[in-house]
Amino acid sequence: MNQSKIHLQPTDVLIVGAGITGLAHAAEAVARGLNVHIIDRDTRAVGASIRNFGHCCVGAQSGELLELATVAREGWLRHSELAGFFSVESGGLVVARSRAEVAVLEELAATRGSDQMQLINAAQVRQELSGSGDPAILAGALIRDDIRVDPREAVAKLAAWLAKQPKVTFSWRTSYFGTDSREPVSSATPDAETSHRTDVTVRTSRGTLTASRVIVCVGHDLDYVHPDVAEPFEVNRCSLQMALVRPAAPLTIRRAVLTGTSMLRYPAFAETGAAAELKKELAANSPELLAIDANLMLTQRPDGTLLIGDSHHTATTQDPFLIEQTQDTLLNATSKLLGMGSYTVLQRWQGIYASSPQQSFLIKDVAPNVTAVSVTSGIGMTISFGLAKKTFSQF
Ligand SMILES: Cc1cc2nc3c(=O)[nH]c(=O)nc-3n(C[C@H](O)[C@H](O)[C@H](O)COP(=O)(O)OP(=O)(O)OC[C@H]3O[C@@H](n4cnc5c(N)ncnc54)[C@H](O)[C@@H]3O)c2cc1C
Repeated sequence: MNQSKIHLQPTDVLIVGAGITGLAHAAEAVARGLNVHIIDRDTRAVGASIRNFGHCCVGAQSGELLELATVAREGWLRHSELAGFFSVESGGLVVARSRAEVAVLEELAATRGSDQMQLINAAQVRQELSGSGDPAILAGALIRDDIRVDPREAVAKLAAWLAKQPKVTFSWRTSYFGTDSREPVSSATPDAETSHRTDVTVRTSRGTLTASRVIVCVGHDLDYVHPDVAEPFEVNRCSLQMALVRPAAPLTIRRAVLTGTSMLRYPAFAETGAAAELKKELAANSPELLAIDANLMLTQRPDGTLLIGDSHHTATTQDPFLIEQTQDTLLNATSKLLGMGSYTVLQRWQGIYASSPQQSFLIKDVAPNVTAVSVTSGIGMTISFGLAKKTFSQF
């Protein structure tokens, strides 16, 4: 038998992509008692899902995104328990260092209720930042529902847990090329399970596979496989620069930390009336952050290191080069925010996610029983488990 080919029985669901979007859909299929086959072109997930902050950023969402994030939060906590990876109901901390930033927080807090979002004073913010912090800190907000995982551990352990489930198969190093038109599967021994199925034939680098339903979760590479879906939504690649830092003096920062630039990015803040003034203020006072389209934020991993980011640059094809000045801007701004003394940069990297100016995610039928799902904004860790429920509810 040719070892490079896969020979498998037709499956209920074939999922392409083992990032968080694909894995969350696989977990949903498992919960529904379905057979699942997950394929990925790599030997493990190395895309956006392991390059991020591990921040399930619930409280900064609004509308449907808030609903999806709230569902996803439960998905993370349940699977953290099942798969044995770190998660913490840490909540979030938003730091305000200007009147305009305070105004955004006050306006949102007035609509959210003090159980979900609590305004705190400068001394309390400093306490949250391990006792130090920028002298400019005026106030802050504690966001109740945000949680954190360590993305590198969580995605790997979720895949490993799924692989142990009786109805789940993984095929790594298997690239998806597309699907052929719908063909009825002829079964030599038709039975109740297979006689009614009309399967999709999937072309891969290891031969053809068949499944009743195919869900394509290839993240920012949707245009490579289904340009007909990606292009109408103007799906592009957004690249972000990140760093992993170990402070010389250990810090304990339990919450995911957001700042003024985050308030321009996440809808709950950006939709406030006060956000317009904040944008003007940041343009005047921190042009270097707006020049790299920064979302200055950080999370702490269980080993004490800090995930620090990030910049944003959108293009169809991204330069592979990290820009040192961008890193300097982010690290200097973080150092100032935390009042952090010396530190060691352990790693620097670029992450890329799918981005669409039209919508934050898409669930789109590509062909009968073939659905593309992509999070087209920087919130895949926040909504994927919720998105998976939404996708399946539409079948
Ligand atoms: C730096 C950075 C920070 C971020 N921070 C956060 C955050 O704090 N909170 C948050 O909610 N979101 C965050 N995001 C966004 C989040 O990481 C993404 O939305 C999410 O990871 C996308 O997951 P995915 O599974 O769709 O894509 P990916 O993780 O990129 O996975 C796609 C998978 O598809 C596979 N694949 C692609 N093409 C094929 C093919 N043809 N055949 C087979 N397999 C294929 C790839 O190998 C890959 O494993 C961040 C993103 C970045 C880059």
